[in-house]
Amino acid sequence: MSKPESRTPRAVRPPSGEVVTRFAPSPTGRLHLGHAYSALFAEHEARRGGGRFLLRIEDIDPGRCRDEFTDGILEDLAWLGVRWEGGVVRQSRRMPRYAEALDALRRRGLLYPCFCTRRGIEREIAAAGGAPHGAAGATYPGICRALDAAERGRRIEAGESHAWRLDMAGAIAAAGTLDWADVEKGSQVARPELLGDVVLARKEVATSYHLAVTVDDADQGVTVVTRGADLWESTDVHRLLQALLDLPVPLWHHHRLLSGPDGRRFAKRDRSVTIAALRRGGASAEAVRRMAGWGKDAG
Ligand code: GLU
Repeated sequence: MSKPESRTPRAVRPPSGEVVTRFAPSPTGRLHLGHAYSALFAEHEARRGGGRFLLRIEDIDPGRCRDEFTDGILEDLAWLGVRWEGGVVRQSRRMPRYAEALDALRRRGLLYPCFCTRRGIEREIAAAGGAPHGAAGATYPGICRALDAAERGRRIEAGESHAWRLDMAGAIAAAGTLDWADVEKGSQVARPELLGDVVLARKEVATSYHLAVTVDDADQGVTVVTRGADLWESTDVHRLLQALLDLPVPLWHHHRLLSGPDGRRFAKRDRSVTIAALRRGGASAEAVRRMAGWGKDAG
């Protein structure tokens, strides 16, 4: 494992002073123990810094998100004793704001339309001798980056469906070298190129996780972004988007991922460890907080 470059003390106070954290689940299922850990971690981080804790529902994808899961999430959190401040921000209501950010990047020539299908991308990657089992984990091979302006215009005009990708090389050239700080692991040099030309607006959804999360954390005044260590590489992309969109830079605190007794990380497929199922089975909120590993090594 690579060593962090430097360590900062476990002070959570961001440069701007107030500690503001958030929990930002996607309502594609009910919350499980891993989510409970993450929510409690974010709330704890705010409380120990004397700050504020917010809740945001990341429901940009109508194909995967359901209102009944949003209702269930709010119910589970309240039952667990998680207390957020103010109203709940729902990303599905903020599409015009994301469109504005997307336009700003497009005007700077940092986006390009991508007409590829998933199949087409997989074929290209396989032909180049990489990722034999599909495109998962491989970065976009840049097929549509090479199209000229006339062809892009013609295909858009003809109504061909397309996503918008960030021209990563151009974006990095515009922003220069960037760093960010993790509360525990210290200062990091951003390497957004590891994720390649990420999609910022999809064919079916006019924004993306990367764009919406970056814009919202800034607009909600979040100063310490707490999230699972699985999103570490995404943070590099968010740091780049902040630079390009002239947004404030928070601190980050990536936390460990909770695993079950079999050593596997909790995931949405683990229906048995949803908060709702545990509650139905008679567990108390205190017991579920303990099962989520809370109190032992999170603080
Ligand atoms: N909505 C994302 C998820 O449920 C997390 C958002 C974030 O912390 O960046 O995985």
